Amino acid sequence: MTEVGNLTAVVRGVRKRCPRCGSRPIFDGWFALKPLCPRCSLRFEQEEGGFLGAMTLNYAFAFLIWIVVLAIVLTFTVPHPPVPELIAMSIVVLVGVPLWFYPRSKGAWAAIEWLANRTDPDYRPPAPRGEQARRLE
Ligand SMILES: [Zn+2]
Repeated sequence: MTEVGNLTAVVRGVRKRCPRCGSRPIFDGWFALKPLCPRCSLRFEQEEGGFLGAMTLNYAFAFLIWIVVLAIVLTFTVPHPPVPELIAMSIVVLVGVPLWFYPRSKGAWAAIEWLANRTDPDYRPPAPRGEQARRLE
């Protein structure tokens, strides 16, 4: 199995694919990330609570979208901004974007964790395994 570049790994994570081998599906439903990659057995959550980083990514992305939309609306409507519409837009963006981005943020964070672990001097790339070895695990 060849090692991929950093950007490729993160893009794979955002696309809900395994950052190491690119296979999918790595989710059971919209919210549940499988503990291991079904193909290369990469452990996605390296430690308990490891997805706090994914949560941070998710909120940061939602906030970025919200602030961009808010700035665009205010640019064109000042001095009379449509306050009720802005409140409705804020609720939709700050609830909808995190729900939509949730699995992508978890995939991206799994990629970041894997990339961080890959720089460990003791890290070894996965050895190719046959179907029989996978069945025995
Ligand atoms: Zn994999």
